[in-house]
Amino acid sequence: MAMTEMLYYGDAYLRECDASVIACDGSRFALDRTVFYPEGGGQPGDRGTFGSVRIIDTQKGDDGTVWHIAEGEAPSVGTQGHLSLDWEHRYHYMKEHSAQHLISALLHTHASIGTVAVHQGPGSLTIETDAGSISEDVLLGIEDLANAAIRRGLRIWQDEVGHREAESLHMRRSIKVEGRVKLVHIEDTDVVACGGIHAASTSELLEVSYVSQERIRGHVRTEWKCAEDAVAFRRSNRDIVSSLSALLSAEPGKVLEEAGRMRDEVADLKREAKKLERKAAEAVVAAEGDGPAVIFTELPASAFEKAAEREAPLLVADSSGRFLFHGSQEAFAELKARCPVRGGGRNGLYMGSYQGNLEGFLAGAKEIISG
Ligand SMILES: [Zn+2]
Repeated sequence: MAMTEMLYYGDAYLRECDASVIACDGSRFALDRTVFYPEGGGQPGDRGTFGSVRIIDTQKGDDGTVWHIAEGEAPSVGTQGHLSLDWEHRYHYMKEHSAQHLISALLHTHASIGTVAVHQGPGSLTIETDAGSISEDVLLGIEDLANAAIRRGLRIWQDEVGHREAESLHMRRSIKVEGRVKLVHIEDTDVVACGGIHAASTSELLEVSYVSQERIRGHVRTEWKCAEDAVAFRRSNRDIVSSLSALLSAEPGKVLEEAGRMRDEVADLKREAKKLERKAAEAVVAAEGDGPAVIFTELPASAFEKAAEREAPLLVADSSGRFLFHGSQEAFAELKARCPVRGGGRNGLYMGSYQGNLEGFLAGAKEIISG
């Protein structure tokens, strides 16, 4: 099919151009020239408009065709119009993709760590490495180096060389294309084969933040925030700390300590409350005397486990729909058959939940227990 002139390789900052439709297929269409970059190398496809048609994505076909995906039906072949990028979307991913080059290059040069896969999701960048483990100090050191490179404003540029010349550079990443190879350079830092599109200077990347790491398929996958996302991440962390500080009435530097102290205090109080509930349950059961008993209580039914260790059968139903039954297995089977209850247990102690009418359940239980 007719080829599309990919204007983004000449100038990654072109936001619009006039173009005409050379092919269409359902909701997708191809143009004689485009500034829209198709999804590839972990970078999402561009969006924007062609005349009044909204373009929601751009994808590369198996034969290299750049397909613009229309929101509705594609315009017909021969249609001429003005193509316009959602620049904010594109520029953000362009900067994030460039930041990925920078981080991967620094990981390679300063920690001998290779990049296996990358993903640019909404709001964060992940770089899957070939390392089985990486210390936090190493990743924080890479973050420092990346931010130093951003402050220096290193030039980023692209060129194209023959395959043999590209091979002779022994780049950190293998060459995945045949024929001529597109290279992307970061001044004093890196050169790799890449068909993506890039910012012109590291200063455009604003800042990067290392977020976290996790092990996946035996490798460390690292997560980063880049450009506006890094700024938003820093501000959101500060907001979280100052809100916590106000909530816990603790200085920002003492927030963790205070949260730990409160967690321990809550655990102690819960233990104490359980002890008191068990004591109250024993008093409630004692007040029933020695005979069979059916009790409805505001205490949790589970608090009666110890108090239920008695001769006569006992059923306790609580206000949150839970019950505890002490009695024979036969009596429990009958209870299950007659009333809408779910649950189980053994050795004379059964627990679960009841549904429906409380009075009916208590009356049924009384009949079974007394009979
Ligand atoms: Zn690239």
